[in-house]
Amino acid sequence: MNKERLKVKCIGIDEEGKGIVKLKGKEFHIANLLEDETAIIEVVKNKNVETVKLIEMEEESKYRVKPSCPYFNKCGGCQIQQMSYEGQSKFKQSKVEDLLGSFCKVNEILTMEEPYYYRNKIHSTFSHDKKGQIISGFYQENTHDVINIDRCIIQDSKADEIIETIKGFMKSFKMKPYDEDTKEGFLRHVLIKRGFSTGQVMVVLVVASKIFPGKNNYIKALIKKHPEISTIIMNINNRKTSVVLGNEEIVLYGKGYIEDILCGVKFQISAKSFYQVNPIQTEVLYNKAIEMAKLKGNETVIDAYCGIGTIALIVSRKVKNVIGVEVNKDAIKDAIKNAKQNNIKNAYFYNDDAGDFMVKLANENKNIDLVIMDPPRSGSDEKFLSSLVKLSPAKVVYISCNPVTQERDLRYLVKNGYKVMEIQPVDMFPQTAHVETCVLLSHKNS
Ligand code: SAH
Repeated sequence: MNKERLKVKCIGIDEEGKGIVKLKGKEFHIANLLEDETAIIEVVKNKNVETVKLIEMEEESKYRVKPSCPYFNKCGGCQIQQMSYEGQSKFKQSKVEDLLGSFCKVNEILTMEEPYYYRNKIHSTFSHDKKGQIISGFYQENTHDVINIDRCIIQDSKADEIIETIKGFMKSFKMKPYDEDTKEGFLRHVLIKRGFSTGQVMVVLVVASKIFPGKNNYIKALIKKHPEISTIIMNINNRKTSVVLGNEEIVLYGKGYIEDILCGVKFQISAKSFYQVNPIQTEVLYNKAIEMAKLKGNETVIDAYCGIGTIALIVSRKVKNVIGVEVNKDAIKDAIKNAKQNNIKNAYFYNDDAGDFMVKLANENKNIDLVIMDPPRSGSDEKFLSSLVKLSPAKVVYISCNPVTQERDLRYLVKNGYKVMEIQPVDMFPQTAHVETCVLLSHKNS
């Protein structure tokens, strides 16, 4: 083993918010180092593997602040709390410019006025610590060890209070946290969703078995302490998996869903369906997407990867028809119900793979004016994109939570007849390294 200490200057920040330094032509990524900072690091060479570690900071960035969360160094949830919000916004802006700037000029990022307590969905894992005390919180980065967390600065504080109550109830109700190794115990996770504009709260108890002794008293006590809870669901997950939710659900209290209002449309949200986690910035994002599309009122629109139909239903009021497609069955059921509840008659939803669905539409030579697409982090696929090119709508609005895969897909579209007209970054996830982008493309022949 060979150790060496060196002074380095950080040249940028990677995807996970780690500082990038270059040593002898090689790139290293070091946690908690910001762009332009200089520091002493230690390089350890063991056989052919080199690892680097931060020893001492020398010159700090003007954007460095003290992280406000005491768990910041252990929990992997946020990556860039050591940066002021101004620094974070600058980092995200240049990340988008580096990735997408060659297509067209990038608009200035739309930031949040209050970049804290914005998450409407909270998930907490229950476990024991080494002394046998019940704890709940998040897995420590890259491990299955739970860190006990009683407050999180990016999530809804009401939800934190409910999780604390549930933790407090464990003893009096003789409820044991589930142990992944011995497979003993009952409560695995708690998931809470809150409709920010309706105030409705959903509590999902993810448990290892259907047998819930003292269930009725437990529910009564929880509702008494938190009358704002509108529904409680028991989700059964007895598999060895890091996926939080199991397949089976039993509604213990209330309707089994909550509602929220986005851009004037009411949405039903179930435990399993995707719903944007930052509703304040979601409205900012959707309004921007709609503004970019410059709708006239006579368009036929596709909302691909539509989730519970949020974009489709909001846009439906401004166009002739909208067709939503989504692979998750529960989400599509919610979308159909949402259309009915809001008395929207020009929105049609299909439960299908977006790529397969686009192939069918392309084979039918459907006339489509606008495609709004909002795929998951992995981006779209060639099946979808090649059919999109065949359908050749005049405009495409591509919303993405991962500019890396978006860049790949934009390249394909630009090669095949489209031009990028506008790029808008939106900060949907303050304190984390993630950034959302909304991109307008128009067909060269239109
Ligand atoms: N537009 C929605 C959801 C975006 S998240 C909103 O703003 O709320 C991406 C969605 O794509 C998820 O609902 C996910 O279930 C869905 N999805 C993932 N892969 C898909 C595929 N191959 N075909 C269709 N939908 C898919």
